[in-house]
Amino acid sequence: MTQTHQHEVIIVGAGGAGLMAALYASRGADTAVLSKLYPTRSHTGAAQGGIGAALGNLEPDKVEWHSFDTVKGSDYLGDQDAIDYMCAQAPEVVYELEHMGLPFSRTDDGKIAQRRFGGHTNNDTKQPVLRSCYAADRTGHMILQTLYQNCIKNKVHFYDEFHVLDLLMNDGVANGVVAVELATGELHVFHAKSVVFATGGHGRIWELTSNAYAYTGDGVAITLRRGLPAQDLEFFQFHPTGILKLGILITEGVRGEGGVLINGKGERFMERYAPTVKDLASRDVVSRSIYLEIRDGNGIKGDRYVHLDMRPEVVNHYAELDGRTLPDGTPYRVTGEQLLSKVPDIVDFCRTYLGIDPIKEPMPIQPTAHYAMGGIPTNVHGQALSDAQGTIVPGLFAAGEVACVSVHGANRLGTNSLLDLVVFGKEAGKMAAEYAKSADYKPLEANPTDFTRQQLDRILGKSGGEKVVTLGEEMKTKMMDDVGVFRTAEGMASAIEKMRELRERYKNVSVDDHGKRFNTDLLNAWELGCLLDVALATAVSAHARPESRGAHAREDFPKRNDAEWLKHTLAWMDGDQVRLEYKPVTITKYEPKERVY
Ligand SMILES: Cc1cc2nc3c(=O)[nH]c(=O)nc-3n(C[C@H](O)[C@H](O)[C@H](O)COP(=O)(O)OP(=O)(O)OC[C@H]3O[C@@H](n4cnc5c(N)ncnc54)[C@H](O)[C@@H]3O)c2cc1C
Repeated sequence: MTQTHQHEVIIVGAGGAGLMAALYASRGADTAVLSKLYPTRSHTGAAQGGIGAALGNLEPDKVEWHSFDTVKGSDYLGDQDAIDYMCAQAPEVVYELEHMGLPFSRTDDGKIAQRRFGGHTNNDTKQPVLRSCYAADRTGHMILQTLYQNCIKNKVHFYDEFHVLDLLMNDGVANGVVAVELATGELHVFHAKSVVFATGGHGRIWELTSNAYAYTGDGVAITLRRGLPAQDLEFFQFHPTGILKLGILITEGVRGEGGVLINGKGERFMERYAPTVKDLASRDVVSRSIYLEIRDGNGIKGDRYVHLDMRPEVVNHYAELDGRTLPDGTPYRVTGEQLLSKVPDIVDFCRTYLGIDPIKEPMPIQPTAHYAMGGIPTNVHGQALSDAQGTIVPGLFAAGEVACVSVHGANRLGTNSLLDLVVFGKEAGKMAAEYAKSADYKPLEANPTDFTRQQLDRILGKSGGEKVVTLGEEMKTKMMDDVGVFRTAEGMASAIEKMRELRERYKNVSVDDHGKRFNTDLLNAWELGCLLDVALATAVSAHARPESRGAHAREDFPKRNDAEWLKHTLAWMDGDQVRLEYKPVTITKYEPKERVY
């Protein structure tokens, strides 16, 4: 039996973006949050390093510097009006989180502590600046808990472990979603005036990733299936420091605290690639440098990894060579205990997953798929857009990693995602409530669950067909090899063919569990369908861009080409065809320049 529920605002996703949206929407409208995971299990809880804001608590900093660093980090593909807005809002939202009860780490005089992060600089001296506000290495965990508690206080209605499978639309206006309740396997229809998608990213397309298992691109796939575009999917960030073979993230905060990257010859190789900021260059630059070292045979023992070294004697040695000082001018020196207190979870991960103590031994690392710069196109108010002209989809909003505003352009700076979640989650929540107040419930179509049932019945109706794990592994390996850190026309063309083949084989996918309650087998199969759609759209978008910009690095087109390619990609899916269009980048103050670090 399908149940129908009605709420003015439905928010899909209970990570940082969804909860911030819920908090603000619930102040003006009846609001419900649907989440396939229990809210506090959302990936936001895994964020370690911090949230960027030019508070200047320890040394001089300015909003304008944060803005310019973000534009430069984006390789000039970020929209400068949106970036200015986000960076200007940053101090206010960080204090707002503090007032909600977020337990930030503190300076000796009680202010919010700040650390260095890649790409964030003092624009006068060009040196790394202390800008990332953190709660040890559990910043995302604290944000998630704080927002969840505040949502509960504000009586937001939560539907936990409800997996959304479709977006409902009436004549181009969003008016609800269809979800399966995990515990019963029943379908539920949610009728709404506004729908906010805050479903996170899709890093599970790649073999080695820092992303949670739930990062399967549901939001992007659902909107693509409903005829809406996805923006800039070719830009996917590889984080330089994932634990060897596992991909688990070692926060950039480790390098912010003085950790250095060392190759098999014992060299601090980033000196050669980014002479000024060295290990704290932006992530695309550091990931590529590691790849080049490995390719030139400079991996540790010639193997496919390098070391991240945060032993105190090594940190102190390089801090001395760099002439690094504390804000009061005294030389920067650390002890093992100090490092342990600043990145306790990292030390724990290394002990658990690698059996090594990073205070005594270097960590073996390799780049890991980390963050989707692309997603559902929105404006700065979180309103979803349906074309290159910026036409608004009435009733539909998106925020967080699933959205593309675009503040990250071709490459995101560390700490700017948590910031994006709270700034644009807030905006989307406010706007969704405002829209709901002036709109009526648009009638639902006669059989709103038809499309969802078709998708599930196709999977449940088969037995002995293709296996989810086999198709998934073939997808991940191919995407890692050919749509990874470095790309070529030939490799990407073969990835496109492979994704088409896998999508064809997916039509014959089957699962072993045919029951109703907690059928995760079935939902994993459905999620694989999302990953395959997003992988195909990613490969096609990437293949069509003959230049290197930010995270999209082509061996056959190593240079950025602003004359022809300073533009955003929009991709629409039609069967196994992907149609592309382009739209201009908003440039207000900063004309594109070559990036030097
Ligand atoms: C290991 C790691 C460390 C990071 N560290 C940092 C950092 O220090 N600083 C920084 O700025 N950024 C960091 N990032 C990036 C940042 O954490 C993420 O981009 C951000 O948390 C995403 O938040 P979100 O709200 O968009 O999505 P999430 O927090 O992932 O939430 C997504 C929500 O959507 C729900 N959902 C998804 N699909 C469905 C569906 N079909 N139906 C119902 N619900 C659904 C999920 O249940 C979940 O509640 C890190 C990322 C990782 C992976």
